[in-house]
Amino acid sequence: MHTDLVAALDIGGTKIAGALVDGHGRILLRAQRPTPALEAGESVMRAVEEVLAELTGSPLWIRATAVGIGSAGPVDASAGTVSPVNVPGWRGFPLVERVRAVTGGLPVELIGDGVAITAAEHWQGAARGHDNALCMVVSTGVGGGLVLDGRLHPGPTGNAGHIGHISVELDGDPCACGSRGCVERIASGPNIARRALANGWQPGPDGDTSAAAVAEAARTGDPVAVASFARAAQALAAGIAATATLVEIDVAVIGGGVGKAGDVLFTPLRAALKTYATLSFVQRLEIVPAQMGTDAGLVGAAAAALTRRADDAAEASV
Ligand SMILES: [Zn+2]
Repeated sequence: MHTDLVAALDIGGTKIAGALVDGHGRILLRAQRPTPALEAGESVMRAVEEVLAELTGSPLWIRATAVGIGSAGPVDASAGTVSPVNVPGWRGFPLVERVRAVTGGLPVELIGDGVAITAAEHWQGAARGHDNALCMVVSTGVGGGLVLDGRLHPGPTGNAGHIGHISVELDGDPCACGSRGCVERIASGPNIARRALANGWQPGPDGDTSAAAVAEAARTGDPVAVASFARAAQALAAGIAATATLVEIDVAVIGGGVGKAGDVLFTPLRAALKTYATLSFVQRLEIVPAQMGTDAGLVGAAAAALTRRADDAAEASV
């Protein structure tokens, strides 16, 4: 009997995805439900249970030995609870205990979604082979995670590497997190779009005012659109340089919708990095686009479960 699979859950504000994943990161079975994000906590949990029921009902389930969860944050891995900003019904929700109850008591590993993406990029994507990496998701928000000394570094609560809420503008605009001038407040998709509109950028005939539309305008040379991306790039560069200076990373991987803007983001970002990453030990830092696609959250949750299983086995053999 093989015991070579893990179950993975990717819990976000719009969908709850689940999968059975093998030791090579291949997805053998998947299930998905929309997140009833604005409903009561128990309704959200019911959607999770429906996803898990599809996994546990499969003949493959008997091969699963651990469960990995990547969830929108904040999460508290030490308490096993989640409080996703966009799911108000879950505040300090005991997700680990509830998942364990419907998966036959398998070990459950919980990490934040930024950390999950990082685990996926390190295992299979752009951070593969790097022992010290920062991986970021730049989209509606800005999240991230760290690989240090060759291992995922989730931190005690599973949120380490949350670069979106590093302050890079001391007296900057108030951020939803309560601080000011955060990277996210300047570099997220909605903030790129907001700044372009405030400075006179006009959307095209389709009325699309998303960051993707601003990126398109920047590609054709619209100076306001270019400037909005340059400002976002500057904030990201300052945050990345600070991280590199603190913990010595050699690669920063950037994914998410804004990351898909390509050269419109990466060219000013690499230029701005030269301004902020100045000490000898951070000068070789590379910035590269993410390689993992929409399954990054699931693959990362699986990676965390596999690592937990390996750690448990090592502990048991001592
Ligand atoms: Zn913030």
